[in-house]
Amino acid sequence: MAHSTAKNLSLQGIGASPGIAVGKAYLFEREDVDVIEKRFIRPEEIGAEINRFKQAVKKAQEHLREIIRDVPEEYRDHVYILDSHMMLLKDKMIYDGTIEQIRRKNLNAERALKVAVDKVKAIFRKMPEGYFRDRGSDIVHASKLILENLLGTGPSKISDIDKRVIIVAHDLSPAETTQIQLEKVKAFVTDRGSHTSHTGIMARSLAIPAVLGLADATQLIQTDDLMIVDGSAGTVIVNPNEQTLTQYHDRKERLEEHQAKVTRTSHLPAETTDGHRLTVTANIELLEEVVAVMDHGGDGIGLYRTEFLYLNRPALPSEQDLFDNYRDLAEIMGARQVTIRTLDIGGDKFAASVPWGEEMNPALGLRAIRFCLQSPEIFKAQLRAILRAAYFGNIRIMFPMISQVEEIIQAKQMLREAAASLDKAGLPFEGDIQIGAMIEVPSAVFMADVLAKEVDFFSIGTNDLIQYSLAIDRVNKHVAQLYQPLHPAVLRMIHRVVQAAKTAKIQVALCGEMAGDLINVPVLLGLELDAISMNPISIPGVKNLVRALSFEESKQLVHAALKQATTSGVLELIQEAYGKSFETAPFFQASGE
Ligand code: PEP
Ligand code: MG
Repeated sequence: MAHSTAKNLSLQGIGASPGIAVGKAYLFEREDVDVIEKRFIRPEEIGAEINRFKQAVKKAQEHLREIIRDVPEEYRDHVYILDSHMMLLKDKMIYDGTIEQIRRKNLNAERALKVAVDKVKAIFRKMPEGYFRDRGSDIVHASKLILENLLGTGPSKISDIDKRVIIVAHDLSPAETTQIQLEKVKAFVTDRGSHTSHTGIMARSLAIPAVLGLADATQLIQTDDLMIVDGSAGTVIVNPNEQTLTQYHDRKERLEEHQAKVTRTSHLPAETTDGHRLTVTANIELLEEVVAVMDHGGDGIGLYRTEFLYLNRPALPSEQDLFDNYRDLAEIMGARQVTIRTLDIGGDKFAASVPWGEEMNPALGLRAIRFCLQSPEIFKAQLRAILRAAYFGNIRIMFPMISQVEEIIQAKQMLREAAASLDKAGLPFEGDIQIGAMIEVPSAVFMADVLAKEVDFFSIGTNDLIQYSLAIDRVNKHVAQLYQPLHPAVLRMIHRVVQAAKTAKIQVALCGEMAGDLINVPVLLGLELDAISMNPISIPGVKNLVRALSFEESKQLVHAALKQATTSGVLELIQEAYGKSFETAPFFQASGE
């Protein structure tokens, strides 16, 4: 495999999951032909192998012909793209090139095709951006059609990766991210994505370093390139020189030492120097993470994102599947509280088992509670499973994306119906369960006093609240710099919700990603939230920091922060109070030491 010519090339992206990894790159391209076996064939097999390749091309042609025939009238103008793919299937470089590789190098057809495509890609990559460079990707797409026929399968899968590598991908969906095998993958980097995309969140859950939003990593990095991924700083170094390698090895060691030290004290409560106790809980996506929650000293589970049980499978999970999963979780956590959020699909998470219409703006579309209220069968199965599991542990339920009080009222009605049906069936369940609303839409902030009358607790989902109030798509890297958790508008909204909760005497937590970022912690403490919930790996550092802070001082900080006109004004206040180190290296400088 050819290495890229880049030496000690430094790329800057968005640090989505902290930690440092050093290892070999593995280019994962779904529409490409990279994740395939290399096999040598015997000389007497050459003829048959070439035939197999020709058959695969023929099938690809037939397939394309069918597609072209069925193109609806309104897309006729674009048929030329498919026509050109048809020609590319017989393109000399691909067609003849593959046959030559089989004949001369005794390669299996799949690998021979890959070698031919790699050569073409290298030629196109050198061309200036624009029309000709784009034709390179057409060749890749066309060759994929052949590959699929050769393999007799659909697109390649991430779970097939069987080496200790660093994945380099254009993009990974949350579902694909969940297929990453921890023992096989050291880190991953992508061209797309942002800190709060669900892919970023998954990376933090898996506790592997990740850098997203690199723009053209898949163009610049090749399989087998040596890479350093610094998920804390958002930096990737390709083919580092000796000096850089040594530097990063040292940094990795220091980072791990620091983490180990903080982790040792993670079971102590997060109590400030003046005796105020903040509950620090975990956000999880998978049952397996519960071990990490325990290891990192989580006081409970503040958010179980249950949608991942619906992804990665062709059919919906049954009520029994859900019940088994929730019951296991509740039993492992024992007396510690587990907050189960009902299904939040739509937005950037889609399940194969749920047919979805095209949506122009999925984040503003049929998502979360809106979807559930329209799909009573799916919702009821989940509600029943939660109520049944609550019999075995300390479970509470939370509804996502509430934008009007009617949704809570309707959801509660369905919860009552679910309880009645369990009663009728004679199944054990816990009917007296705490009910919460996520506050992640601006309308819910302003109606918090009304919502508070209907629920037992609030959990502020700042990932979405920031997206919806600042009008910043949480997965769009072009506006990532405008995604500011410390924007005074965000702080004022949190303040308002906390006040409404206090007036109504209900509990209020915050479970957006900002809770796990040390720089935000003094402000969140001073905003008088009862609990903050975050990725398990962030818990030790956050608890360690809280133990070094004064509650009274943090309330004064918030008093001043709420009057600021800008995010930088808020940041300056934090720096004045706690020093510059906070902004430059929030992860590494977990303070309190
Ligand atoms: C949020 O929006 O802040 C949140 C915690 O939920 P999710 O990230 O799953 O949308
Ligand atoms: Mg949300």
